Amino acid sequence: RAKQRGRDTFHVFDPNHDRQLQVRHEKRQRFVDALANDELRLYYQPQVDMRTGQVVGVEALIRWQHPERGLMAPGQFLPIIEATPLEVDLGEWVLEQAMCQLVAWQSAGIMLPINVNISPSHLLLSNFSQRLGELLARYPQVPPGLLKLEVLESAAMHDIQAALTTMGKCQALGVNFAIDDFGTGFSSLTHLRQLPVNLIKIDQSFVRDMLRDPDDMAIVESVIYMANRFQRPMLAEGVETLSHAKALIARGCELAQGYGIARPMPAEELPKWLVAWPKRADWTALGRTH
Ligand code: C2E
Ligand code: MG
Ligand code: MG
Ligand code: MG
Repeated sequence: RAKQRGRDTFHVFDPNHDRQLQVRHEKRQRFVDALANDELRLYYQPQVDMRTGQVVGVEALIRWQHPERGLMAPGQFLPIIEATPLEVDLGEWVLEQAMCQLVAWQSAGIMLPINVNISPSHLLLSNFSQRLGELLARYPQVPPGLLKLEVLESAAMHDIQAALTTMGKCQALGVNFAIDDFGTGFSSLTHLRQLPVNLIKIDQSFVRDMLRDPDDMAIVESVIYMANRFQRPMLAEGVETLSHAKALIARGCELAQGYGIARPMPAEELPKWLVAWPKRADWTALGRTH
C-alpha cells in the first residue's frame, strides 16, 4: 500500500491511522447523503431587545435529523466537514434555506431578519460575494437587509485583507454582518474599528459565567465599552436568566439571545412563540424597571 502512494512519499504503515482515515471518510460520505436526502434542518433562535421586548431577528442554527441517531447538534458533525468543500456545500444550502424561509415568513406577515453562520472557508472563497449576489437575485422579493451573516472573529482575523474585501462587496449588495463569539479571538480590539460589522455578539462563555466570575464580567464590560466607543450595536449570547438580563441592561447591553428568552426552535414553532413572548411580563418589561 505504501508504494501506491507515490514514489516520493515516505509512508510508515500504521493500520490505526489508516482506519481513522477510513472512518472520517465514511462519516463525510454519510454527510453528503444527509444533504442529498434532506436530513438537515434549520432551527431558529429569537434575538430580542431586552428593554422593550421587541424581537429584532432570529439566528439560524443547523441541526441534523438523523434517521437512527435522532436530532444532532452542529458540534456533533461540523468538525467532520471542517475546512473541506462540504463546508461550502452546507453553507450554500443554509443560505438558500434561509432565503426560502424569509419568503415564507414574508407571506405570513413576519418580517424578521435571519442571521446565518458563515464558516471561514466559505467566506474566504474568492467568489463568495458573487455567489451571494446570484442567490439574492433569485429571491428579488426579499430585501437583502433581512440577511445578516455571522462571521467568527477568528475567521475575519485569519486573513484580514481578504475578509475586508469580501465583506465590503457583500455590504454593497445590502447584506449585513455580525461578528460572532466576540472576545474569543486575539486581535479583537485592534481590528474592531476596521471591520464593517453591524453587530458585535459577545461570546456566551463570558456571559454565562459573568455573575460569578469577575474576570468574565470584566471582559463583558470591556466589550460593551469598546462597542460603544466604536458605535457598534452589540448583542449578548447565552442569556439564560433574568439576573443575566438585568446585569447586562445595567451595563448598557440591550440586545440578547439565550435559553432564558427562547431555545432554538423549528420554523413552524416561531409564530406561536411570537404570540406568547409579549405576555412574559417578567422579561419584556425590563426597560421599565431598570
Ligand atoms: P454560535 O453561532 O455561537 O451559536 C450559538 C450557540 O449557542 C448555539 O448552539 C445555540 O443553540 C447556543 N445557545 C443559545 N443560547 C444559549 C444559552 O442560553 N445557553 C447555552 N448554553 N447555549 C446557548 P448550536 O446550535 O449547538 O451551534 C453551535 C455552533 O455551531 C454555532 O455557534 C455556530 O458556530 C455553529 N453553527 C450552527 N449552525 C451553523 C451553520 O448553519 N453553519 C455554520 N457554518 N456553523 C453553524
Ligand atoms: Mg452564530
Ligand atoms: Mg456565538
Ligand atoms: Mg460559538
